[in-house]
Amino acid sequence: MDHFHRYISELFNWNEQMKNYLESENVGVESELWGKLDRFTNLIENVSKPLSNSELLDLQSEAETIQEDMEDYFNRKQEIGSIWVKETVLPPGGHSVPPLPYAYNALEPYISEEIMRLHHDQHHKAYVDGLNKAEINLKKARESNDFSLIKHWSRELAFNGSGHNLHSIFWSNMIPGGGGRPKGVVLGAIESYFGSFEAFKKQFSEAAKQVEGSGWALLVWSPRSRHLEVLQTEKHMDFSQWDTIPLLVLDVWEHAYYLQYKNKRAAYVDNWWNLVNWSDVESRFEKVRPLKWLAF
Ligand code: MN
Repeated sequence: MDHFHRYISELFNWNEQMKNYLESENVGVESELWGKLDRFTNLIENVSKPLSNSELLDLQSEAETIQEDMEDYFNRKQEIGSIWVKETVLPPGGHSVPPLPYAYNALEPYISEEIMRLHHDQHHKAYVDGLNKAEINLKKARESNDFSLIKHWSRELAFNGSGHNLHSIFWSNMIPGGGGRPKGVVLGAIESYFGSFEAFKKQFSEAAKQVEGSGWALLVWSPRSRHLEVLQTEKHMDFSQWDTIPLLVLDVWEHAYYLQYKNKRAAYVDNWWNLVNWSDVESRFEKVRPLKWLAF
């Protein structure tokens, strides 16, 4: 059996094991996990010829998604105390630097080994340390009910959290021998919004070249506009934390309260809690919860 067929048969065995596991845990047929595993079985059974690399990656990521859904399902069961599974939620201060997915010198001649060592081992590490420190201090603030440093720690949380998240994306956004242009859905989405790959590349490059001071250029997906966009960010964040999705927001611009509350913003904030639509927050959370990146 060649490498490819061995891989497919491994996926097939994994799929069977998952089903056996569901059965042994008495997961009812109404659970969507069964449907997902069945669809995966069909997917593998219909593989007749060796797949391209990107098709293999799709298959692999499909398997990972199912694996995560299973962990998620059993995590929730764990909360009611029925079985033990690995906990994947990071506690406050639980971040770490992800390993570089290639050797330090692998991106030469475009990026030198010296830069990669400094950038990954020291700069990224500093963001992780700063993020952990901010999370731990905010935990202390909650426990002691002392929020006098909330502005400081919120700034640290945004700066270092965005730094950590963006660098984690940045490392795996690069690969030795990369370049060229994307294929499939990414190319389609780029062409339909930016007009052409060349136009996108020009805009992205200009965004990067014209960042004022330190910052990033980003290609992002907007779940509301339902199209891609190119953005710039100065430093890492401007008080936001990239790679996160808002669930509950409160507008404290003066236009939101001044006519009624004048300069009493605190009274507006206190009263606002009487209006929160928690079922909207819940439904936003349910929609975004399946979106998971590897935890670091
Ligand atoms: Mn950097």
